[in-house]
Amino acid sequence: MTNPGTTAADGQWIAFLYGRASVDPRRKGRSVNAQMLDNRSICNEQNWAIVAEFRDDDRSASPYAKRARDNYDEMVGRVAAGEASVIVAWEPSRLSRDTESWFVLRRALQNTGTLVCLDGEMYDMRIATQRQRLTREILDSETEADKTQARNARTARQGAAVGAVHGRILYGYRREYDPDTGDLLGQVPDTEPQGTEASKADIVVEIITRVAARESVRSIGMDLDARRLETPGVSERWNLATIRNIARNVAYIGRRVHRGQVVGPAQWPPITDDPTFEATFWAAVAVLADPSRRTQRGTAAVYEFTGIPTCGARVSASADDSEDRVCGGYLYRIPATRPGRAHQYGCRTCHRVAINMDLLDTYATAALLAWLEVPGRAEQVLKVTSEDASVGILAEIARLEAELAQARAMATARTLSVVSLAAAEAGILPALGQARARLSACVPHPGLARVLGPDARARWAEIDDVVERRAIYRAVMDIRVLPIGPGYGGVRSLPKRVEIRWRLGA
Ligand SMILES: [Zn+2]
Repeated sequence: MTNPGTTAADGQWIAFLYGRASVDPRRKGRSVNAQMLDNRSICNEQNWAIVAEFRDDDRSASPYAKRARDNYDEMVGRVAAGEASVIVAWEPSRLSRDTESWFVLRRALQNTGTLVCLDGEMYDMRIATQRQRLTREILDSETEADKTQARNARTARQGAAVGAVHGRILYGYRREYDPDTGDLLGQVPDTEPQGTEASKADIVVEIITRVAARESVRSIGMDLDARRLETPGVSERWNLATIRNIARNVAYIGRRVHRGQVVGPAQWPPITDDPTFEATFWAAVAVLADPSRRTQRGTAAVYEFTGIPTCGARVSASADDSEDRVCGGYLYRIPATRPGRAHQYGCRTCHRVAINMDLLDTYATAALLAWLEVPGRAEQVLKVTSEDASVGILAEIARLEAELAQARAMATARTLSVVSLAAAEAGILPALGQARARLSACVPHPGLARVLGPDARARWAEIDDVVERRAIYRAVMDIRVLPIGPGYGGVRSLPKRVEIRWRLGA
């Protein structure tokens, strides 16, 4: 970690705390107190001296708005004067009320070497990559500010109490609040017409019905774009992933998924009270899993999980060995051998395990989303990824790499035989591989930060890049697929056949 430009005479860091209210008028200014509690606990953990606290309650109708603004400016002024080692705030969207004020603060931070601590993570504005990353996050959060609720653990806990209605609102639903207390009561289908157009609830029903009727996802998207219907995400266009995600989201039939399994009714009603809708929904899921649809996509097709799941078949170590072991080979995409047959993921090591590609994609993604949106997940991941754990592993990797480099240098200089080099490598490489695996389990892909939190589902839908999605799968989950057992196959057996282990904790 880099050191701040300013510290107290005894070397202790001087912390400024900053809290800013959510733009969501329902939640009033309450969450600033919660932000400040978190900020203070970080300072206590780090033994930083809290010298000043600044708040921006930023209520448009508030008589205090003027004073709050002065408060922010005062903080920037004192940072520019080099009075602080670190500014502690909850998350990027809480650090600055708009882009212009961020750039003023950024300049002050950069000039004085004042660090920023957001949600426990440090940023140094003197380092270009960190400066760019934080700026991008702040710009992103500003774009989303009008549409979304702030995510924080407090909201998540409140949401859990009223039955897991938390995070960003599911497209097609609206929140219901107690008119007296402003408390969240639950979510119901949003049946308010959008101008001359259908309501969002009707749009969801329309999408699922059209997918079930085998209309192509692309043509549905073009139609929705032409009608200028509001999308669930920040994108103005209806992209294909968004439509597919709607058409297979069991939340719309009032079901809740936990750890990849449908675990009974959700705390909200289905998107429509039409009793035939559930059958339509499952028909849409089946259409999306139909290989004949996928073949038309040609080279644009993506294979979410190829090379990620491992094989759980039990194989004999040798011909006369009674002990068997788990194969462990990776499952790769196996193209359909004939038109109309499904693509599969199959084990190329023992050839005993294969699974329908779309089924696994849908199942594993649903499990990931359920894992991501568990309240407190962000805090949990942060704990697992504490620097203490990774520093030791990094040191071990550095030591092993140095040993390996030395052995190879000696072999090149002919002071070590090729046989000895092979022996040295056989000792070092597995240890190095294990250390790297532990590190990758410990430092998840940076993209994970983008999707953690109660609005995980909506944030996930905005990741268009399959490479980034795959990096996140690898960072958080190990998937093992077992052979088809006696008496089961297909969708219902997925929980039996697909074992998911969470690398950062269940
Ligand atoms: Zn295998």
